[in-house]
Amino acid sequence: MSILFSAAACRSTDGVSGTSLNSSGKTYEIYLTFDDGPWHGTDDVLRNLKGEGDVPATFFLCGYVFNDEQGGGNVSARRGYLREMLGGGHLIANHSYSHKYNYDDPSWMLADFAANEGAIQAQLDAEYPHEFACFARLPGRRAWDVDGIHVEDDGDTDPTVSLLTGREYNVYGWDAEWEQKKEWKGCTLAATGTLKQTPEGMAEETLKALRKGDTKKPGKAVVLSHDVLFRESQGMGDKLGAYIRALREQAAANNETVTFRTLRDY
Ligand SMILES: [Zn+2]
Repeated sequence: MSILFSAAACRSTDGVSGTSLNSSGKTYEIYLTFDDGPWHGTDDVLRNLKGEGDVPATFFLCGYVFNDEQGGGNVSARRGYLREMLGGGHLIANHSYSHKYNYDDPSWMLADFAANEGAIQAQLDAEYPHEFACFARLPGRRAWDVDGIHVEDDGDTDPTVSLLTGREYNVYGWDAEWEQKKEWKGCTLAATGTLKQTPEGMAEETLKALRKGDTKKPGKAVVLSHDVLFRESQGMGDKLGAYIRALREQAAANNETVTFRTLRDY
């Protein structure tokens, strides 16, 4: 499937609120995003999204994973995940080729994002969706530049963001993160590879932010997580589905509804 896309359409001026009233109450838009794939756990994420009724999501990809030496092998399976993402109505988006935080050198960062366009295009050939070069998330930094929202939470990224927006990208941070549990190992706080929040707790956190208006756009929540956290092999294979169900159930209990969208609709 080939998606025709005009680069000029990357940056819109639509800042309309996602909150709407239906006969029963508010509807919130949830934008699930998964970073650093395709990687271990990507197949489990895709299976969960499909199992909950083809829930659409956005995948911020890094092209280095297709380099056998750096990516640890399994390239053909990862290429299959790319095709599954496109066939399943998901959005694939740019998270830089190498995932390096070289923010002192914005031109290098821009080149790393451009290299990622080439790397993903090389995997997909004619199926490459040109909209890939419209959606960016910085590695290791929460910065936004979309529809007049310009926020830099962690410092030192503004020049990189400006170069990306000059290339027609929108830059997306996140409103809530489903993150890894961390534990002290000696003097170091290390990630454990398991989820910090339960599915029900994460659903509560997401809905609380929406109800308080504590998201970048009212009524819309961008949720960050990582493919690697949902591995069936680590006993985490049903957590994403449980989160989606908890969001629906907790919203319904409060006379609200949730819908899932990709960042195309943000
Ligand atoms: Zn990342």
